[in-house]
Amino acid sequence: MPTELLGLTLDELRRLAAAWGEPAYRGQQLFHALYAERRFAFARMTNLSHSLRERLEREACITLPALQQRYTSADGTVRYLLRLADGKTVETVWMPEARRQTLCLSTQAGCAVDCHFCATAQLGLVRNLTAGEIVGQALAVLADQPRRRSNTNIVLMGQGEPLLNYDATLKAVRLFADPKGMAIPLLKITLSTSGILPGIRRLAGEERRPKLALSLNATTDAQRDALMPINRKYPLGELLAACRDYPLRARERLTFEYVLLGGVNDTPEDARRLVALTRGLRAKINLIPWNAVPGLPYGAPADEAVATFQRILRRGGCLAFIRRSRGQDVAAACGQLASLDTSAPPAT
Ligand code: SAH
Ligand code: SF4
Repeated sequence: MPTELLGLTLDELRRLAAAWGEPAYRGQQLFHALYAERRFAFARMTNLSHSLRERLEREACITLPALQQRYTSADGTVRYLLRLADGKTVETVWMPEARRQTLCLSTQAGCAVDCHFCATAQLGLVRNLTAGEIVGQALAVLADQPRRRSNTNIVLMGQGEPLLNYDATLKAVRLFADPKGMAIPLLKITLSTSGILPGIRRLAGEERRPKLALSLNATTDAQRDALMPINRKYPLGELLAACRDYPLRARERLTFEYVLLGGVNDTPEDARRLVALTRGLRAKINLIPWNAVPGLPYGAPADEAVATFQRILRRGGCLAFIRRSRGQDVAAACGQLASLDTSAPPAT
C-alpha cells in the first residue's frame, strides 16, 4: 500500500524522509509543496530530487477528495459534494465575500448527535474523517476556485460534531495554521460544537486551538433536552460553567449560535433568558433563522420575531448578529447538509 501523504504534519514528513534515507529537509520541501504551493502531483514537485520523485511515485500517494458535484447558489455560495476514497460523501461549502472567503468543512460524514432541527442528524454517523480528509476538503475546493481573495476563514460547521472526532480535527486545524504551510491564523478558524463537555474542557487546555462556537439553541434544560437530546448528558448549567472557565486570547470572544425556530424558541422571554444566561461572558451571539429541512416539524421564525429577539439581546448588553443565510437554494445553508444530490430529478 502506498503511504498517504495528505494529512501528515511537517514532523511526520521529516520522519518519513529520514526513514527513506533522505535528509530531513526533504520532508520540509514535501510539506511546502503540499500545503504552501498546493502541488498534488509528484512530477510537479520540482524542488525535489529526481530519484526522490520516482520513489514517491512508487511508494506514496496524495488523495484529494473527488469533486462529485458542485451546486452554485444565486448568492455565489457553492456547495460541494465530495467523494472520499472509500466512496462515502461529505459536503464542503465555499462562501465568497467582498474581502475574504469562508470555507465550511465537515469533520465527520453524517453525525451521531441527533439534533431534531438538523438535516445532518438524519444521516446518522457514517464515519469519522481523517485529518487528511478534513484538510483535503479545503485543498480540493481551493484548487477548484482559482479566483479568490488571499484572506480565507475556516469554519468547522459542516457535517459532523468536531469534538467527537477530536484528534483528527485538531490535527487538521494545526495543519491549516502551520506558518510553513497554508498559514491560516488560528483565530481565523472556528470550531462549532453542540456542547460536548469533555471536548470543550480538553480544548481549553490546548496551547494551539481554534476559536470556539457553542450551539446553544435554547435557554432552559427542558427546552434544550427537547431539541438536542445531547443536553441530557451535558446540560446547560455545566456548559455555561465550562464557558466561564474557558481561556480566551486577546480580542477573542466565544460565539454562541442560536437557531431560531418559529414559535418554539424565538419569544421575547427566550431572548431575556439568553441575556441572563450569557451575562458576564466575553461572547457574541449569532442568531440563525432556521433553514428549511424537508420533513422536519419546524418553521422559520417571523422576520419581526427575529428583529425583536436581536433588539432584546442588544438592549441587554449582548453583541448579537443575525447570520445571513447563504446558499439556501442549493441546500448549502446551516443545518441543511445531508449529502443531497439536488441535481437528481425529483422522485415521483
Ligand atoms: N455539529 C456542530 C457543527 C455544525 S454547525 C454543531 O452543531 O455546532 C451547524 C450549526 O447550524 C449549528 O449551530 C446548528 O445548531 C445549526 N443548525 C442545525 N440545523 C439548522 C437549521 N436547519 N437551520 C439553521 N441552523 C441549523
Ligand atoms: Fe450534528 Fe451539529 Fe447537526 Fe447537531 S446540529 S446533528 S451536532 S451537525
